[in-house]
Amino acid sequence: MFRSLHMKLVMILLLLVTSLMAVVGAFLITRVTNFFIDDFYQQMSDAFGDADFVSSLRAEAGQDEGYRRIQSLLELYAGTLGIDSRSRNYYVLDADTGEFLAGSDEEGGATLQQTANILTARNGKVGDKRDIASNFMDVAVPISGGENHYIVYIRDNRSTVASLNSQLLLIILQALLVGLLVSVLLSFLLAKTMIDPIEKLTEGAERIASGDFDEQLEVDSTDELGILTNTFNDMASVLHETLDAVENERNKLDTLFLHMTDGVVAYDRDGALIHCNPAAVGLLGRAPQECDYATVFEPLCPFERVMSMQRDDFIESTLTVGDRSVELYFAPFSDEDRGGVLIVLHDVTEQRKTEDRRREFVANVSHELRTPLTNIRSYAETIRDADGDLPRETENGFLDVVIQETDRMTHIVQDLLTLSRLDSGRTEMVMARFPFGEAIDNVLRSIALEAQRHGHELTHEYLTDLPLVMGDRGRIEQVMLNVLSNAVKYTPDGGHIHVTAGAAEGRVWMEVSDDGIGIPVADRERIFERFYRVDKARSRESGGTGLGLSIATEIVQRHNGTLSLAEHEGPGTTVRLELPILQHVVGEASYG
Ligand code: ADP
Repeated sequence: MFRSLHMKLVMILLLLVTSLMAVVGAFLITRVTNFFIDDFYQQMSDAFGDADFVSSLRAEAGQDEGYRRIQSLLELYAGTLGIDSRSRNYYVLDADTGEFLAGSDEEGGATLQQTANILTARNGKVGDKRDIASNFMDVAVPISGGENHYIVYIRDNRSTVASLNSQLLLIILQALLVGLLVSVLLSFLLAKTMIDPIEKLTEGAERIASGDFDEQLEVDSTDELGILTNTFNDMASVLHETLDAVENERNKLDTLFLHMTDGVVAYDRDGALIHCNPAAVGLLGRAPQECDYATVFEPLCPFERVMSMQRDDFIESTLTVGDRSVELYFAPFSDEDRGGVLIVLHDVTEQRKTEDRRREFVANVSHELRTPLTNIRSYAETIRDADGDLPRETENGFLDVVIQETDRMTHIVQDLLTLSRLDSGRTEMVMARFPFGEAIDNVLRSIALEAQRHGHELTHEYLTDLPLVMGDRGRIEQVMLNVLSNAVKYTPDGGHIHVTAGAAEGRVWMEVSDDGIGIPVADRERIFERFYRVDKARSRESGGTGLGLSIATEIVQRHNGTLSLAEHEGPGTTVRLELPILQHVVGEASYG
């Protein structure tokens, strides 16, 4: 109940009432006391300023036992002088000795002291000095008549004032008590009207601090607290909207970081990891907790160096993780106190591989073209240098080589052109439905003679009915012919070549098996690469360019199919061609 603000309010009100009553009390008591003192001296001055009274006193003083006569006169004037024999008394004193002679207070003679005013009167002057600090008021007036010298002394012991003051004090204390009670009640009333809304505001602020923006505070009044509550509600909705916007932005960034292929790692200015997206985890090959800057990045780019850079600057570096090449970009992400370091990781493995392949390809092309050119040149030079001295047959043989090499070069250039067209998508596939089995029969017929020339036994078997297939028949037959002619080429004479085909699960396939020289395990992956040949001499001998399977692969891929080496038992090779029966994905192909 006595919560801080409420307690303070009670204390303030109590202090206010107490101090108010203290001031009022002090003021009242002083005024009452002063009034009584003023009244006493005024009364005395009126009485002793009355010439008749004073001359009567003097006349009485001149008589025998003048003091008794003065006493009688004073008794008569008791009302005027306010003598009540309780708080105010009169005394007749001997002016020479100050001795008590008569008075309204019989005891007075024994207890009366020689006050300053009495001493003044004994010196023949009126003693009417007031002393606020003393507990009595007095006036001493010298009265002489004939030989007799007396002092009429009026003394008030202020008991009336004291009792009045104590009554006043009592009233003030009672008023104080009532005031205190009222102030406690008031504090409750104030608490209801002031502290309750403040408490509601506090609760609202606490709710907002804990992230709950749903409830708006009720506005009960139109005073300053009502305005404050309204403003608070407005502030809460603006804060909610702002936080929502920030949250939205954060979610956007999180989603971006989550799905982007580049890795992003962020550290705060003390080097502690703030963020590490899945791509970064994959590229670094480490769990986020193992990605501390000191271990992973410090040797590549010191932390302090990045922190000292401008925001639009960055440092580039490379990192090799296993067989992957990663390019790194270091940048500070804020130049304020709360900044840090951001690292973007870009996987350049494929890029590097492509560059290597391109370099290799150019080297291969140059090499492949140089060999026939060198041959042509040397044979031509020999013929020229012989200057017609060569026997006719030899010369014709040399010229045959020149023609052969020229054919080879034409072949290579044609293959390169075909590949280049396929690469750039300039080769349009004329898509149509054609019977897969008929295409195989066609190719088998065209290779039969060549197989026969090498004494190969060429057999085939269709394991299922072969359906119509969507594709560019001419290109597919080109692929089949390439695979079959390889089987013929790379099988020593008198070998066996067996073709099987079938259809299953929306796809058709054809396998060409031979019992030829086979392909070593190490080369199996690479024979589909451009210019790759297991045995260059043999391939060249048989007129191969090393581009046949690359072209075949490109064509098959354009049909969403695969060309691969299948499992093969014993010596020889099995090449498998697989195609979808229908072409669902239009891609670059067009349906003719
Ligand atoms: P090439 O014009 O040299 O025949 P390809 O691209 O058709 O080029 O074949 C690539 C290489 O794969 C060949 O040089 C050869 O070494 C190997 N190869 C292809 N088919 C066979 C097979 N049936 N038996 C053995 N080796 C093969």
